[in-house]
Amino acid sequence: MDFPATADIVIIGGGIIGVSTAYHLTRIKAGKVVLLERTQLAAGATGMSSGLVRMHYDNPIEATFAHESFDTFQHFNEIIGGDCGFVRTGFVRIAKPQNLSRLKANVAMMQDLGIDTRLITNDELKAMAPYMTTEDFTVAAYEPLSGYADPHLTTMGLAGAARRQGAQIMQGVEVRGIEIAGGRVQGVHTSRGNVATPVVINAAGPWGALVAAMAGIGLEITPALHQATILETPPDLPTPHLTFIDRINGVYGRPETGNLTLAGTSGGEHNKVIDPAELDSFGQAPMPHIQFQALERLCARIPVMETAPVRRGHTGAEGYSRDGHALLGPAPGIEGFYLATGMSGHGFKEGPAIGRTMAEWVVHGRSDVVDITPLRVTRFAEGQPYQGPYAYQ
Ligand SMILES: Cc1cc2nc3c(=O)[nH]c(=O)nc-3n(C[C@H](O)[C@H](O)[C@H](O)COP(=O)(O)OP(=O)(O)OC[C@H]3O[C@@H](n4cnc5c(N)ncnc54)[C@H](O)[C@@H]3O)c2cc1C
Repeated sequence: MDFPATADIVIIGGGIIGVSTAYHLTRIKAGKVVLLERTQLAAGATGMSSGLVRMHYDNPIEATFAHESFDTFQHFNEIIGGDCGFVRTGFVRIAKPQNLSRLKANVAMMQDLGIDTRLITNDELKAMAPYMTTEDFTVAAYEPLSGYADPHLTTMGLAGAARRQGAQIMQGVEVRGIEIAGGRVQGVHTSRGNVATPVVINAAGPWGALVAAMAGIGLEITPALHQATILETPPDLPTPHLTFIDRINGVYGRPETGNLTLAGTSGGEHNKVIDPAELDSFGQAPMPHIQFQALERLCARIPVMETAPVRRGHTGAEGYSRDGHALLGPAPGIEGFYLATGMSGHGFKEGPAIGRTMAEWVVHGRSDVVDITPLRVTRFAEGQPYQGPYAYQ
């Protein structure tokens, strides 16, 4: 593929956010769109994602992103073309007892947004999933339509559709500098040459702060590790079993292709912070002590998992902002530089809608999806980190 000397818009990063933005920009015919990925598509957080596709959030912006994206996962072939590996399993979120009133308020908030979710009692969950322990809570949030999707297939599907609409997607091209003159973006310097462009979108995921620094912008994005453990599903469980997030035990799980179950854990050493310089060198093999704790937590919710052999696992890195929400919108003081980074653990399921939001922002200066000004990058300096009215504690 010829290296492009010019572009109307350059996207840095070929994860779910970059390819979705490329898809939506070309869908609305925003001009010549070039996506530059330094290794291969889905090489970063996206390729490691556990792929949970659910809509439960404790704030309306992310619930809206997840809801808007859900349609794309559910009807991927009709909307994008091809298969994203979406499997409907039903999803349940078990909250800590001290968050019960917040859980109820958030389910009501999501119902107002049109999300198919409801409260179920522990007895109802027991009837639905007899393999789960249900004595330690009274009600949980349930989404009958949710499940999981394949992050690689989703990324490739969106990239393929973006290419068919005219996007140029270059892999193995690292952006090494962003040229700015007179307060405006002029172009990017890469490992293959320069691209002149008036618009650059930073979709570099956990590398987002490193890319922003090329434009002289300081971003607080903390890279942290997250591990997935993959076990054989015991025969006592139905196929597919429920997808769930259990905040009491700090574990989530979902079925995985091949009669397997994927589990992940969070909190403390389960999200070990690393230096941005380590993003290219951290070990992707599973850490045995985290794997052991994941098993313990999983068995606390699904006791029969005690019999499940561990088959494999992996460790990925994700970029977290200080308030746990993405940094979205124009970068302050540099015309033509946009941020879509710091997804803070939510980017896969929200990617289709975030890509649309970014495309609309670049072209129209606003988006019909949702108002993203609460996620502006300057919110921390202004003392206004974002949180929903019923944020979990
Ligand atoms: C183990 C794990 C499990 C997860 N589970 C879930 C889940 O169940 N559901 C969910 O919604 N989210 C989940 N997440 C979070 C989700 O995967 C991320 O939020 C999302 O993938 C981020 O996508 P991205 O496109 O912003 O970043 P990435 O996928 O990291 O993409 C950034 C890309 O930028 C490229 N890049 C960086 N620097 C440069 C440069 N200088 N030049 C060119 N290219 C560059 C990188 O190579 C990379 O491919 C999980 C994350 C991890 C790590």
